[in-house]
Amino acid sequence: MKRAGPIARRWPLVAIVVCFACARATVHETPGPAAYPRTRPELTSYRETSRYSDVRHFLDSLRVLHAPLAFGSIGKTNEGRDIPYVIASRPLVSTPAAAKALGRPIVYVQGNIHAGEVEGKDALLALLRDLSFSPTPNALDSIVLIAVPIYNADGNERFAPQSVNRTEQNGPESVGTRANAQNLDLNRDYVKAEAPETRASLAMFNAWDPDVFVDLHTTDGSFHGYALTYSPSLSPAAVFGGVYARDSLLPLLRERMRVRDGFEIFDYGNFVSDEPGLVRDTVHEAWATYDSRPRFGTNYYGIRGRIAILSEAFSHDSLARRIASTRAFVNEILSLVAEKGGAIRSLSARADSLPLAWGRSPDSLQMVAIRSELIATPRMMDVLKEDLEKTGDSSLTQPGVPRGERRTGRVHAVRMPVYDRFMSTLDRTPPAAYVVAPQDTGIARLLRLHGIRVERSDSAWTARGEGYVVDSIITSPRQFQGHHEVRLKGHWQRGVQALAPRSFIVSTAQPLGALAVYLLEPESDDGFTTWNLFDRDLKTGGRFPVTRIFDLSRRGRSANRRSSASSAQPQ
Ligand SMILES: [Zn+2]
Repeated sequence: MKRAGPIARRWPLVAIVVCFACARATVHETPGPAAYPRTRPELTSYRETSRYSDVRHFLDSLRVLHAPLAFGSIGKTNEGRDIPYVIASRPLVSTPAAAKALGRPIVYVQGNIHAGEVEGKDALLALLRDLSFSPTPNALDSIVLIAVPIYNADGNERFAPQSVNRTEQNGPESVGTRANAQNLDLNRDYVKAEAPETRASLAMFNAWDPDVFVDLHTTDGSFHGYALTYSPSLSPAAVFGGVYARDSLLPLLRERMRVRDGFEIFDYGNFVSDEPGLVRDTVHEAWATYDSRPRFGTNYYGIRGRIAILSEAFSHDSLARRIASTRAFVNEILSLVAEKGGAIRSLSARADSLPLAWGRSPDSLQMVAIRSELIATPRMMDVLKEDLEKTGDSSLTQPGVPRGERRTGRVHAVRMPVYDRFMSTLDRTPPAAYVVAPQDTGIARLLRLHGIRVERSDSAWTARGEGYVVDSIITSPRQFQGHHEVRLKGHWQRGVQALAPRSFIVSTAQPLGALAVYLLEPESDDGFTTWNLFDRDLKTGGRFPVTRIFDLSRRGRSANRRSSASSAQPQ
């Protein structure tokens, strides 16, 4: 399977883009299934996963067979690899404007963010092939699918034995790494956006504005009895898509996966006996989810006012079963989104218009949750648990199972508290705008990268508002992702604020207003402050460099009203 360079070199982006036209303009005979490309796992009895060249070759084969798909690149990785995306819809579209004109929900599905967690990549490729060649009606008649099968392409190419790169996983033999080529975990990068992969995906979010984002992973924790566990956005600031996914979509998906696909699935979590610290020490056994902070992609996407779904295939299942469960789950998501297209589209519209109403009527102000913790009152539910037993020696019974233990296949339901959601511990009322000091050009650039509109004042001005006085700066002693995270304590001082000429103005009356609040508030649990972006300006007793303004009527005239979001174009 060592077939690297030549195939990749035969696949220049220009050729692919040019072929959008020929795929649309010409009627081709539909190839028979014998001609369809097969994924690396399908070709190797599920012993191997796809290399980057395999993915490119597979997509190239679909193109050659005139599959009704549009191909492109979301951008380049750190090592210069194009990150391919594929659009699937009937009729086929290849631009955000054409997708929007169809008036359908847009679903963005991403595989391989952690490149050792391989089944999302291979499941997506097979699903694209089978849906696009299917002559019968399917979800592609009612949605637009954007598939990004190999997001962390550089990590994928750092192949090493599973026992090295993914110790808690049942194969395949060799897999990529969790981190990208900069040693960054891409699923901790959605706020600070230090990786080129993150910046490329934010540009895709801004350009295509998907209604639903699905991120495909593999677990590395408890021995539970589920083929797959899932999570909506857990941020309490995700008041639209987060709640709708949790209460309306995911219970239906769970039911359909059981009845139609034969897979038990459940809310993502771990037994607290496996992961102490998830809940209070007094709780002996419980099932608890992970984290609500937007450094994680699906939590982040919920704060953008959209639906996000985390998918975690069970790492102790075989690769074949993990691919099957992930594929079934994505397929059920696409079908359900197709059915609920009207409701989902109006949810997106409501999420966009609420912050805009903030600008017109202060009465419509909705608080934005900026800090949260796991709920204190869990529900009691049955959770499936698998028994492990001792082998009596130190043998390895299955890759990913601790030495000296074996799986029994005996799964039983245990009634226990389930902590599946977070509650807000600090809410903030959006001001009319945040004003950022003129020297903080990096902050303005990063806000624009997130799709947030940023303007600039011409002249010095004054406005009613409040500034934050820093009482203490708590810096984490532990380094994480190259940072020492910062947390502030302080107090607000209300009054007339003097604002410098050329300061940056971030109105909250824009579709991503809640995201702007979350990123800029000094006390957010995962905002720009957390990631050291304001360190230069912080001192105890000093003023935080972002000011809250209550009305914008007297501001200096804006020199630049352009939205930076429009600069993000698909390739
Ligand atoms: Zn993962």
